[in-house]
Amino acid sequence: AAAAPFPAGPAPRRATRQVHIRWDGNVVAVGGGAPVVVQSMTNTDTADAIATAIQVKALALAGSEVVRITVNTAEAAKEVPAIREQLDRMGIYVPLVGDFHYNGHKLLTQYPDCAQALSKYRINPGNMGTGKRRDDNFAQMIDVANRHDKPVRIGVNWGSLDQDLLARMMDDNGRRAVPWEASAVMRDCLVVSAIENAQRAESLGMPSDRIILSCKVSNAQDLIAVYRDLSGRCDYPLHLGLTEAGMGSKGIVASTAAMGILLQQGIGDTIRVSLTPEPNGDRSTEVVVAQEILQSLGLRAFAPVVVACPGCGRTSSTVFQELAASIQGYLRAQMPVWRSQYPGVESLHVAVMGCVVNGPGESKFADIGISLPGSGEQPIAPVYIDGERSLTLKGDHIAEEFQALVEDYVSR
Ligand code: SF4
Repeated sequence: AAAAPFPAGPAPRRATRQVHIRWDGNVVAVGGGAPVVVQSMTNTDTADAIATAIQVKALALAGSEVVRITVNTAEAAKEVPAIREQLDRMGIYVPLVGDFHYNGHKLLTQYPDCAQALSKYRINPGNMGTGKRRDDNFAQMIDVANRHDKPVRIGVNWGSLDQDLLARMMDDNGRRAVPWEASAVMRDCLVVSAIENAQRAESLGMPSDRIILSCKVSNAQDLIAVYRDLSGRCDYPLHLGLTEAGMGSKGIVASTAAMGILLQQGIGDTIRVSLTPEPNGDRSTEVVVAQEILQSLGLRAFAPVVVACPGCGRTSSTVFQELAASIQGYLRAQMPVWRSQYPGVESLHVAVMGCVVNGPGESKFADIGISLPGSGEQPIAPVYIDGERSLTLKGDHIAEEFQALVEDYVSR
């Protein structure tokens, strides 16, 4: 008998506790069966409240469900309430996460309005000093989080590992019969640091359903190994991200390769794609890429999918590429309004194909599709709706007419 085909689809999500990140009635659930959350980060100077609020708004409108801002100085901490106020005034209730390093304990204690305006704190235990000072600083941050009922992310990074812990683990490794490679010790150190600090936070009174963990590295294979290990050792929700992923296609591909494998295995409850920003300052690409990763894996749907062939020597003109790009841009631009007007619209499939070879087939699989004429073919473009050839477009206005048909399909 023929073997059954491989089942399609990701593994069941790893069972975790659920953490709630809140702002003014807007609750973003992370882990515990909630959809994988997309988040991103600003790169403005947080002391510039207007510029930061504008960028947070742009990221939120692009689809970021949580936005992190740097809080690195007194000036930045003082402006956080003003940023929150600006956003509330604009109707943008996306939760803000404060990213703290070195002086977070001081800033959160000295600026309680900042502590209150943030919805979550990111704590990096690797750069809070060493020894007793480190423990005191960590305890101070957890105390503020407890007093303000805020969740935290204990975010460990390869580039800022806890040096005390690393030294201890290197010593232990030296006593092994067969010592591990240094990189394996470092990976283990990341995982141990995250878990030990989470346990320390719990021992300081933080409820376990207010803790998210991350262990970020900049290499795809290390990320996969670290998160597989981490996910097997705890049930805190996990924030996935390849740190310093890089620019353009390199960053997108590395993030997609690493996170795609982990997500497929049910690992990861919120993701951030860290891309070096475009020279024009546009940060929305990282949000779109994160959404595309989740949608490609079938984990979430954010916007209608446009299936377009790559084009080849049979493509007769640039009409087809232009139509595919304009339909995709148009659909994305409509989503903020359509999402509430037409429930389920994000699952729509639209096909824009370049010739008769695969055009009719792909168009029939889509909810609505068009097969443009390839070179040497009759200058007509059949349109398929719900798998049936419904009408034929021709002439100079095929793009506009097809867009109108898509609009009509969505609103019917
Ligand atoms: Fe080429 Fe036609 Fe295939 Fe598009 S559908 S890649 S134009 S053969």
